Amino acid sequence: MNTSRKSFIKTLGALGVMPWAIAQPTSSKPRVELGNSSIISNPKTLAVGSRNALRGVERAVSMMSEGKDPLDAAVEGVKIQELDPNDMSVGYGGLPNEHGVVQLDASCMHGPTKRAGAVGCLEGIKTPSEVAKAVLELTDHIMLVGDDAKTFALQLGFEEEDLLTERAREAWLRWKRNLNPNDNWLNDDESNPYSTGTVHISACTQQGDIGSITTTSGLSYKIPGRVGDSPIIGAGQYCDQRVGSAGSTGRGEANIMACGSFYVVERMRSGESPEQACLSALQRVVEMTEPRLLDENGKPRFNLNYYALNVQGEFGGATMLKPSDRALDNGGGTFAVAEPGNARLEPMAWLFD
Ligand code: ASP
Repeated sequence: MNTSRKSFIKTLGALGVMPWAIAQPTSSKPRVELGNSSIISNPKTLAVGSRNALRGVERAVSMMSEGKDPLDAAVEGVKIQELDPNDMSVGYGGLPNEHGVVQLDASCMHGPTKRAGAVGCLEGIKTPSEVAKAVLELTDHIMLVGDDAKTFALQLGFEEEDLLTERAREAWLRWKRNLNPNDNWLNDDESNPYSTGTVHISACTQQGDIGSITTTSGLSYKIPGRVGDSPIIGAGQYCDQRVGSAGSTGRGEANIMACGSFYVVERMRSGESPEQACLSALQRVVEMTEPRLLDENGKPRFNLNYYALNVQGEFGGATMLKPSDRALDNGGGTFAVAEPGNARLEPMAWLFD
């Protein structure tokens, strides 16, 4: 892949087009002026992410401790899940769409260079995170989708592979066999057979450089072509070098409506802690939710999670619904955090009991 990417860069050079390069980490700035307010910056090497990113945040922090770029580190972190056939929510082994085809979404941002990249509905490539990063690094665009995103990846030297594992195919067939005449796409009752899952990592270096990435196979058994929140900049993830970074997992449609990760970062900009900012975004999601998806007490029938860190070295996470006692006993309601030599799961706050 590196060799092919080099030849792609050479081709661009021959055409007189210089590829964009990721800047080296900048030096730490103790105080960031933001209009009328300012944020005291006291960054530390830190990565946060979804619960399934525990191995990923550990890898990201160990790479950043060696001086690596935060986005490179975060991408290497999420790739652990993308390449793991047992994580059925992302990359290789992810659950397929209605037609049994695995379609992947991913997006990323890089604080130092203020660049972003994304892919939607990408088929046949195990690591959409790397393709999203290639869009960020090599093009003047932000998002590529579908067959053309795949062509872009193949031109860069990514390999096309069958992403549907036997386990995911069996799960899809089970779903198909159990379809019944009462099913409909607006199904919102408890028997809803669709499942979600995604991996997010936000990473910050000791110098205060930030990178963020979210990657997913999206909602299981989705209508082919459905794009969730993960590849949408400001929804699936968002970072601003002056403030911090945020990402999301859970019902993508709800998160898109609230521009959730952007909103978390904006709340941190106005002084909220990462955890409080995550809760504020969940509150905004509820306010933006159509009645069909709320119960009689105004509580959403779906779940959604936010994860965030800021340039003061603080972090937090929040989920919409309190996990059941059983889920809590099994480590539910937690998110992944890593500092040098210390990767762990931390409890999330929740909005509704
Ligand atoms: N947010 C993802 C999507 O809607 C799914 C998930 O995170 O569970 O595609």
